[in-house]
Amino acid sequence: MSSIVTKFGGSSVADRIQLEKIKGIIAKDERRKYVVVSAPGKRFQNDNKITDVLYLTYASKEQNLPYDQLLQVVEDRFLAIAANLGSKVDVKKEMDVIRGEMEKGCSKDYIASRGEFLTAMLVADYLGFEFVDAEGLILFDEKGKMLVEETNKALDDELKKHDKAVIPGFYGSYLDGTIKTFSRGGSDITGSVVARAVKADVYENWTDVSGFLMADPRIVDNPKPINHITYMELRELSYMGASVLHEDAIYPARMAGIPINIRNTNAPEDPGTMITAEVGDRDPETIVTGIAGKKDFTVISMYKANMSSKRSFIRRILGILEDYSCSFERIPSGIDTVSVIIPGQDIGGRLEEMMDTFKERLNPDSIEADEHVSMIATVGWGMSKRPGVAARLFTAIANADINLRLIEQGSSEVNIIIGVANNDYEKAIRAIYNEFSVEA
Ligand code: ASP
Repeated sequence: MSSIVTKFGGSSVADRIQLEKIKGIIAKDERRKYVVVSAPGKRFQNDNKITDVLYLTYASKEQNLPYDQLLQVVEDRFLAIAANLGSKVDVKKEMDVIRGEMEKGCSKDYIASRGEFLTAMLVADYLGFEFVDAEGLILFDEKGKMLVEETNKALDDELKKHDKAVIPGFYGSYLDGTIKTFSRGGSDITGSVVARAVKADVYENWTDVSGFLMADPRIVDNPKPINHITYMELRELSYMGASVLHEDAIYPARMAGIPINIRNTNAPEDPGTMITAEVGDRDPETIVTGIAGKKDFTVISMYKANMSSKRSFIRRILGILEDYSCSFERIPSGIDTVSVIIPGQDIGGRLEEMMDTFKERLNPDSIEADEHVSMIATVGWGMSKRPGVAARLFTAIANADINLRLIEQGSSEVNIIIGVANNDYEKAIRAIYNEFSVEA
C-alpha cells in the first residue's frame, strides 16, 4: 500500500504552534502514515535545544554537579507542550522514570535519546497515531554500527502491524536492549531507514527551509531554490548539504530507490527540493545545479622528477596523512607533481613538522604549502558532455579578478572544483552564480 514517511526536525516540533502545522500537513495527504520526530529545537534565537540540555545534564552528573535544574528545564518544556495540546501523556511520570535512570547511572545515549522519546509520545497522542518505540527496532552491533538488514526486517515486521505510527528519531538499541544514538542530527537517518522498511513512495524531510538553494544565501542575494537534485550531485555538493540533511540519511532511501523531498514546515505549499537517483525530465537547459564551498584548506604541493614512474609515491603520502590523522579532500596530480588538499583544522599547528616529514620520507625536488585556501564546487548534470562550461566558469573568475590556485574536475564530469584564496571566496561564489543562474 502506498505511504509517505514524514520526518519533522527540531524546529518543526518546537512548540504547539509548530505541532499544529504538522497536523495540517499530515491531514493533507492520507499516505502520510509514518511520522518520525526529532526533539524540540529552538523557538527563538537564544532558546535551548532539548538534546543540548540533555547532554548537559549528563555532563553535569559526570562532574558531580547538580543537574536537577537542567532536567527541570526539559520537564517544563514538555509539560508546556502537553498542556497546550491537551495531551493525555503523563510527562511527570515519564520524567520520573528518566530521573530514576539517571540516579542508577544511565548511559549518555539513553539520556540524549529521551527528547525524541517524549516528543514521539506527545505527537502520537496529538495525531491519534500509535507510538512505536525505535528501541529494539533500529539495531546496532557491539561496535555501534547499524545492523542494516536486521533493522530493515525488524521495522518492516513491526510497522506492518500499525496503520499509522509515530517513531522517535535519533536512536535505536544494541542487541541487548541498551539505547544507542546516531550522531547529532541523526533523526534524518531514522526517517530514511523507516522509509526503506515500509517501502514508502517518498521520504519527506520537513525542516525550516524550503529545500536546498543554488548557493549560500549569506553570500548570494536571494539564490534560486533547487527543485531537483540527484543523490550524486548532492554528494558532490556535500559542503552545502550537511546542514540540511544528515549525510548518512541518503544511503537507505537511495538503496531502496525512494526519493527524498526536503520540505518547509513553515511554508508547506513550497515544493522544496526533490532528491532522486535519476535526472528524470529535468529542464535540459539547467547546466549548474548548485555551487558550494568551504574555507581554510591547506594545499601541500610536491614536485619530483619522474614521479609517475616511482612506485608507491602516493601510497607513502597517504601513509603520512594517516600518521598525522589528517583526512584529505582531494589529491590532484600531474605527471611529476602532486598536491594534497587537507582541511586546515586537521593540521592544527603541525604544518612545519608535517612538511619536514614529507621531505624526509619522500625526498621531493620541491615542496610548498599554501594555507588559507577555499575550495568551491560547481556541480550539475548539465555540465557533462556540454562544451564550453569550464571556459565560462574560468572567464567569470578571471573577470572578477580572482587568482585561481587550483582546478580539479571530478571524474564524474558533473563537478568542477576550484581553489581560491580565502579572501576571494565570497567573490568567486558570486561570480560563478551570476554566470550560471540565468539559465538554471
Ligand atoms: N535531537 C538530535 C540532535 O539534536 C537528533 C536530531 O535532531 O536529528 O542532534
